[in-house]
Amino acid sequence: MPVRVDNDANLAALAEYTSGVAAGTPYLVYLTGEVGVGGGIILGGELLRGADGFSGEVGHLQVDPNGAQCGCGRIGCWETKVGLAALVGAAMPEQAYGLPGMPVPDPGERVADLARGLASGDRRMTTAVAQVGKWLGLGGSILANLFNPRVIVIGGYFASLAQWLLPHAQDQLQRLVVAAPAAQCRFVASTLGFGAASRGAASMVVSDTIDDPATIMDTSPRPVPH
Ligand SMILES: [Zn+2]
Repeated sequence: MPVRVDNDANLAALAEYTSGVAAGTPYLVYLTGEVGVGGGIILGGELLRGADGFSGEVGHLQVDPNGAQCGCGRIGCWETKVGLAALVGAAMPEQAYGLPGMPVPDPGERVADLARGLASGDRRMTTAVAQVGKWLGLGGSILANLFNPRVIVIGGYFASLAQWLLPHAQDQLQRLVVAAPAAQCRFVASTLGFGAASRGAASMVVSDTIDDPATIMDTSPRPVPH
């Protein structure tokens, strides 16, 4: 069988385009919300790959030249502001990633702790999530100014905490987008969960097969000659 490899953000963007919350929207951006942040960009119904396949490294856009050092070695990347590590560091500093001697629990547990704290009105968490939401909107506005998407779908932890993040993010996006029609762009939380990338991979195989059914016929077992 032919084997293809792609990254999680590109595949999740395809899944959103084919069967997710923004299905059929030909101009969309998908953002993974993990400890780091990646992007998948669909323009005119096609995945944008760039000359070498490295488009979508949006987590490493520099948004704060005086900011913290990123895992990539640069300073002030977007993911140092909006990645889960940034939110945990501000909202629950005693549990921050990278503390010496601290166990590294499942990120899902920390997101659940955050959701519980936010629901009960924890002030420090509320302030931290508002700050992250603003940075999310600032980065989103760069993408909106560049690509003019109709929708920015947020996945991973962004989706889990969407009700607290999105009002701040949307507000900031609207303020910073230049062209008035582009300001219609809205953030929407993914509903595909952590299965988004694998669903996108499956949709890629299905569309390849529709484009060229012979790829499957060529791999069917041959009759054994007598
Ligand atoms: Zn970086």
